[in-house]
Amino acid sequence: MKLADRVSQINEPQTIAMSKKARALQAAGHDVINLSLGEPDFHTPEHIKEAAKAAINENFTYYTPVAGIPDLKAAISNKFKTENHLDYTPEQIVVSTGAKHAIMNAFMAIINPGDEVIIPTPYWVSYSEMVKLLGGIPVFIKGTIENQFKITAEQLEKAISTKTKAFIFSSPCNPTGSVYHENELAALASIFEKHPGIFIISDEIYEYIYFEDKPKSIGSFNDLINRTITINGMSKGFAMTGWRIGYLGAPTAVAIACEKIQSQYTSATSGISQKAALAALNHDKNASIEMVAAFKKRRSIVKEGLEKIPGLICNQPEGAFYFFPDISAYFGKQYNGKTIENSTDICNYILEEHHVSLVPGTAFGDENCIRISYASSEEKLIKACQRLEAAFSSLN
Ligand code: PLP
Repeated sequence: MKLADRVSQINEPQTIAMSKKARALQAAGHDVINLSLGEPDFHTPEHIKEAAKAAINENFTYYTPVAGIPDLKAAISNKFKTENHLDYTPEQIVVSTGAKHAIMNAFMAIINPGDEVIIPTPYWVSYSEMVKLLGGIPVFIKGTIENQFKITAEQLEKAISTKTKAFIFSSPCNPTGSVYHENELAALASIFEKHPGIFIISDEIYEYIYFEDKPKSIGSFNDLINRTITINGMSKGFAMTGWRIGYLGAPTAVAIACEKIQSQYTSATSGISQKAALAALNHDKNASIEMVAAFKKRRSIVKEGLEKIPGLICNQPEGAFYFFPDISAYFGKQYNGKTIENSTDICNYILEEHHVSLVPGTAFGDENCIRISYASSEEKLIKACQRLEAAFSSLN
């Protein structure tokens, strides 16, 4: 039996691999604190659940139009206009099975084999694997902790070649929590102005989870809307990961292409989930605001904990719910006669010996760091920080 070559060209996300290991230890009776998760630990707000129940009771259980129900597309178009200064008409919106699906649709619509896609590192795990699945070539630009992992206009300009087809980034960023400020986006936009053939994919799935200035959309700069594909969805800001609703706004030709691809691939996402998403978008955002206030408090708890660990360089996340500290000062140190060579070794050591599950930076294209999710209760975070302090101080 021989599988297709593409299977061996991509990796399983290490985020999922670490969660599997943590669950196995838990099943064996260990008290594991799981900080490797990429989803809010809050329940979906009641009014959203009620809308889904009503949809079921009203037998809204059939196929819907492939790109989404008209009311939801209109609500998304309105959200883009009023909240992000992005003028996408309802015909330019495609609703999909999560933001992940929306990103894959966008890539499938624009990438030919051999096309280059520029991806700043650290990046969200799936970008490079999706590009590779389509025969594209990921081109990485290294973001450094000194610049909060954000790339500069000069770096972007250097990475552009005649083969560059697209640029993709997330702000707020998973895994770093960094948010590009207005002047930084303006600088990137001025480079894109010189290269009109490049698509920009702006992944704004963490848009609502920010602690300083409200994140801006790069598509609102200059005339970039004409080639910006803006990705968003319900998963993170509304605690709706399992409902699988993501969406994109795109230039008309791209949106039509995404709908065509989706029509042969998955058809529309669940109508019940679409009704729930509609209720979420049409309601006040108080539940999201409360969730963000909780994340902000947790950010302080973890920051205080991490600052107690000598040698660890901590970044300053302004959004999402992750820290991405540099732990490379501990490479070469030992425990039980074993040497820590890299971020995977350190995450395995911390999980196996101190029962905190984290994700190695290598999963996100940065070997010197680890990702710590603070989508967990304050009590667990305090305990996890104590365990981390003990773990790092036990290395010598
Ligand atoms: N983009 C980023 C940056 C993410 O972190 C995630 C989920 O972790 C997604 C997209 C996918 O979101 P969804 O659950 O809506 O598919």
